[in-house]
Amino acid sequence: MIQYNSDVIIIAAGASGLSAAVAVAQKGLSVIVFEKNAITGGTANRGMGPLGIESRHTRSRLFKPTKDEAFKAFMDYTHWRVDAKLVRAFLNKSGDTIHWLESLGVEFVEPATYFTESYPTWHLVKPENGPPGPGGAATMMKILTQKALDLGVQILLESPVKSIIKEHEEICGVKAIDKEGNEITANAKAVIIATGGFGDSVSMVREYAGFEMGKDIFPFRIEGLAGDGIRMAWDVGAKSTEMSMELIFGMPDPLSIPPQLHEACRQPHLMVNLLGERFIDESVLPNVTFTANAITLQKDKTAFLIFDEAILRLMESDFDTRNRVFPFTNIANSEHIIKAYLDSKKGNFFVAESLEDLANQTGIDLAGLTQTIENYNQSCEKGYDELFNKSQKFLRPISKGKFYAARHFPSAYGSAGGIKINEKAEVIGQDWKPIKGLYASGTDACSIYGDSYPFIFPGTSMGFAINTGRIAAESISQYLNFDLD
Ligand SMILES: Cc1cc2nc3c(=O)[nH]c(=O)nc-3n(C[C@H](O)[C@H](O)[C@H](O)COP(=O)(O)OP(=O)(O)OC[C@H]3O[C@@H](n4cnc5c(N)ncnc54)[C@H](O)[C@@H]3O)c2cc1C
Repeated sequence: MIQYNSDVIIIAAGASGLSAAVAVAQKGLSVIVFEKNAITGGTANRGMGPLGIESRHTRSRLFKPTKDEAFKAFMDYTHWRVDAKLVRAFLNKSGDTIHWLESLGVEFVEPATYFTESYPTWHLVKPENGPPGPGGAATMMKILTQKALDLGVQILLESPVKSIIKEHEEICGVKAIDKEGNEITANAKAVIIATGGFGDSVSMVREYAGFEMGKDIFPFRIEGLAGDGIRMAWDVGAKSTEMSMELIFGMPDPLSIPPQLHEACRQPHLMVNLLGERFIDESVLPNVTFTANAITLQKDKTAFLIFDEAILRLMESDFDTRNRVFPFTNIANSEHIIKAYLDSKKGNFFVAESLEDLANQTGIDLAGLTQTIENYNQSCEKGYDELFNKSQKFLRPISKGKFYAARHFPSAYGSAGGIKINEKAEVIGQDWKPIKGLYASGTDACSIYGDSYPFIFPGTSMGFAINTGRIAAESISQYLNFDLD
């Protein structure tokens, strides 16, 4: 048995754990971080950047929202079904956190929106190399890791924590396993849980979110996110919260699809379910969470985006909507891209000469599809969609083959919720009082979305992780009466 001692133990070195580690070490406390993976950074290595409200970047550009406007919009969006004090604490701190990250060496480009109606809260990290994009936030994780090490934080990789130790109603350490399989007992005065949720646990996604992984949901599955921290917190008496997935929609395995084709398949054309019926105003598609909600209500949680040859020709020169993650403006050279994708036999994209053939290949009900297209084409001719009042500029008939269909399902960036915390990131016990010495942050404790991820505030997920990491650090320094500031 190996033994360690430190003031604070942090379970995991993802976005939240690393932020907490740097912030705790800056207070002058000793820190050990246990990380299950062989590298630090967690899910955040895949992302683009966190939310910031009233950062110097948004203020200098006169960008909305202010902190007060953001709080009101957030609580209106969630219908006050979430912890208002926690939301307020997170939003109010988020601008300052952008400045704190900059003080550590992180650089940001101009704050971005996710889709037209969303706020420009998304502070995209300027990566070491190339433009901001998927994985750009890995640069921030690298900087946080180095800063933590510089401040004397001990980071133990490939060393998953297995349980939290509680004695006399106080948290006093953790038990872990190191990469050689040795058992570790680590003593500390406070522990922060930051293990990133349950997004890779088939059983927890089924039990707590109601989806069957690989069947009716195809999330980004970040290896190791198995709900460890949530279960360990429950084991020492933590209250649970609502648990769900941070839903988006898409074709399975999106990173294997050529990005131009991927974007072509998310344009606001005709969307139907397996019955061949429309169920959404396709103008809503850029809000990937709302679209996922609507798809979740359909048969087999399945939807198809349909277009014809004439629409494909239009997309060769311009897309209707743009996306900041894959900023392609058209699918020039579509024939080549589509052929290569079909040859790869990855599936979920279909090309047919006739509607019969399309129905055959996709399993969409032919009679339903034929009727829907007839009605839809009449709406296009009239310039008014009686069913859903879809924006007129996106009303284009589906007339002549070839016909194209992309199959979409709910997807998710990860999970949401599990451990109940208050606005100080203290873990709340069954008696509704903080469990002494126990803190949680990031996805494990992220129960502020209500029923839908608030994509009107892009960057919320990583922003919540980093900000609650910092908040936990500040609470601990108060709890331990230890503050160098
Ligand atoms: C493709 C993709 C893109 C994204 N882009 C964005 C974006 O641009 N903006 C945004 O706001 N959000 C984005 N997100 C979400 C964002 O990355 C997460 O919300 C954020 O990283 C959560 O931080 P966290 O610290 O809670 O968890 P993570 O960053 O996932 O870290 C959790 C860590 O816990 C470790 N761990 C698990 N169990 C144990 C254990 N028992 N012991 C020790 N360690 C353990 C894991 O190995 C992992 O390193 C994206 C997600 C994905 C998948």
